[in-house]
Amino acid sequence: PLSSLSSYPAEPKRANDGQIQQKYINMDHGDPTMYQSYWKQMGDRTTVVMSGWQSVSYFSDTKNLCWFLEPGFANAVTRLHNLVGNAETGNRHIVVGTGSTQLFQAVLYALCPSDAPEPMSIVSAAPFYSSYPLITECLKSGLYKWKGDADDFDKDDPYIELVTSPNNPDGSIREAVFNGSRRILVHDLAYYWPQYTPISSRADHDIMLFTLSKSTGHAGMRLGWALVKDEAIAKKMVKFIEISSIGVSKDSQVRAAKILDVIGDTYEETSNESKRFFDYGYQEMAKRWGQLREAVDKSQSFSLPNLPVGKCNFSNRTFGTQPAFAWVKCEQAIDDCESFLKKHKILTRGGAHFGSSKKYVRASLIGHEEDYNEFIRRLSLINSVESP
Ligand code: PMP
Repeated sequence: PLSSLSSYPAEPKRANDGQIQQKYINMDHGDPTMYQSYWKQMGDRTTVVMSGWQSVSYFSDTKNLCWFLEPGFANAVTRLHNLVGNAETGNRHIVVGTGSTQLFQAVLYALCPSDAPEPMSIVSAAPFYSSYPLITECLKSGLYKWKGDADDFDKDDPYIELVTSPNNPDGSIREAVFNGSRRILVHDLAYYWPQYTPISSRADHDIMLFTLSKSTGHAGMRLGWALVKDEAIAKKMVKFIEISSIGVSKDSQVRAAKILDVIGDTYEETSNESKRFFDYGYQEMAKRWGQLREAVDKSQSFSLPNLPVGKCNFSNRTFGTQPAFAWVKCEQAIDDCESFLKKHKILTRGGAHFGSSKKYVRASLIGHEEDYNEFIRRLSLINSVESP
């Protein structure tokens, strides 16, 4: 997914006459650098000092089913879900992972019987998160097989459906495609946070995946967590993480606990929105979506999906989903939207990666402000040139 990093030119290119050519701006990957300005504003409140004697063990909590889970991180996760009201934490096991990317693999390992005659089918409704097929097929496992779009799937065999809500790439609010006893659902709730979408209820599914990357922006800590009802499934997930990485960085968990606790503390201390993390994130996303809609509305070249409006139980605001990504459709004669935007020095990820049409691209809204402003500027320029 980060392959386009290499296509970001480090030095400005010069034409034959010595003039600097315009740099590419990279809207392809969802690197959540937008959040850095909030955390800078919090200064030393989130600073954690660690000494050399710390983390001198693989183990964090030998009494816990997830023996590499730091108790402070587990408490902070529970506290955060209780504050936001976005997920049920009671009667569930928390399994920590190196990003929710590792947890996704742990879930596949845990849910697919090792003695089945055929690999288990893995599906998700298109457009789906582009990493799902890559991760599922990467090791050519005998346990599972990527079968693509859940809508096209023949449901006679048992299968696992990935339900991502709000969805990456298009921001839609999703439920499982079909009912039935032969399916197992995995809910990827990476974006079910109040800066992106109204929190309408506490999610209460059997297996729910969350990540620090899209909640607080700390993608570089590489931490995710799963809330898992079934003990046997949680145990198998822990086994996978034991085999693949003998646990998860303690240092990251200690830092993450601090970050999450500071979020909780600010909600107890102040009603100043710019100081409260989710309000800050909400305002920033609202601003960026406003800029994008204005640029797109003027145009004949692009369109955006209609997203649902709802009341958020956390903030009491009524608003439309404002996803981390824009799912942009090129209208009229433009068939390959990614190539079209690339000519205008904007890098995005084309629809085919998500099991969809090339008329679409995904563009990130959660990068650095300067890049985002430049993206909007370039998009507006395309409009004024190409519109009648
Ligand atoms: N699920 C979804 C839907 C995502 O968009 C992402 C990040 N792009 C992930 C999982 C993986 O997140 P992490 O950084 O925790 O591995």
